[in-house]
Amino acid sequence: MRLFLAFLAVAGASCASAPPVTGPVAAKPKNVILIIGDGMGPSHFVAARLFRGADYRIGKMPVTGVVSTHALNAIAPDSASTATAYASGAAVNYGVISMDRSGRPLETALEVAEKTGRATGLVTTTNFWDATPAAFAAHAANRGETDTIIDQMLKSGAEVIVGGGKAKFDDSRGVAAGYSVVHSWDDLSTARGDRILGVFETQKNEIDFPEAPLPLLAAWAMERLARDPDGFFLLLENEGTDGSSHNNATDDFIASARSVDITAGVALDFAARHPGTLVIVTGDHETGGLQILPEKSLNVELRWGGKGHTAADLPIFAQGPGAERFLSFMTNDEVGRRLKALLSSD
Ligand SMILES: [Zn+2]
Repeated sequence: MRLFLAFLAVAGASCASAPPVTGPVAAKPKNVILIIGDGMGPSHFVAARLFRGADYRIGKMPVTGVVSTHALNAIAPDSASTATAYASGAAVNYGVISMDRSGRPLETALEVAEKTGRATGLVTTTNFWDATPAAFAAHAANRGETDTIIDQMLKSGAEVIVGGGKAKFDDSRGVAAGYSVVHSWDDLSTARGDRILGVFETQKNEIDFPEAPLPLLAAWAMERLARDPDGFFLLLENEGTDGSSHNNATDDFIASARSVDITAGVALDFAARHPGTLVIVTGDHETGGLQILPEKSLNVELRWGGKGHTAADLPIFAQGPGAERFLSFMTNDEVGRRLKALLSSD
């Protein structure tokens, strides 16, 4: 009996979701900026709040919700399955990149945005072909199929792709796909051409590139993509919050959590100048079982409960047209369905 109840609890945790918010959509966004702090669970956002203090921008976003994370075959998921949920609106197995169980591609939010004529961009602090950006622009049975994933990303139509991986990437592949390939902030900020591929040196714990931290790349990418009169979809991922959590590297984690909040601030400032911009900030799964201690003290002590991913629910924050769609408890795949509905032209 106890076993049965346990099963019910697990099934409930992974399947239950609030029904989609129904009724007419007041307004659809022109621009959508999705910011993912990889590995950021509830305590990671608390840490960002405590270390940013009065400057904490995420906490000023008007809409908040809660996201449950899971892969079809895992209570504690990985970034491929969770990014697929956000990108395609479908639940998949651990390690899968936007592909269904029959091997068919699952349409992604980036592909929907491309269909509507929007410009698109993928910016991350880790290798540009890593699971989170990959799930928006590629389809593969396994996140380790790097060559296939890179080929598809370069054919996705994305105007802007920026990330790490310089030591492992052959520039000629980008050039052959029509991209201007650059390796420094100077060259990126002055790059001409319709498609820009920025490939930097991946840092330890996948933290920000020293010469081009995510807030700087975010501001550059937004201005560049905003040249498209049809609007844009932009994914901004900080992987440092995940890499540092895996290694229980507290200093790198604090720097990365701050970077996520500053990046959110850059997006919110852009939105203030460009009405019609929806900004969403969330994590993809919790990493490291982070605890914030101690009780009865004003000191902040971070303690790690492990080195892997956990099944913790995540906060999600939104502002702009369509933000009200994220005001509930949702499974991660429901987030993806709502995101695609907001980007679609129907
Ligand atoms: Zn991870």
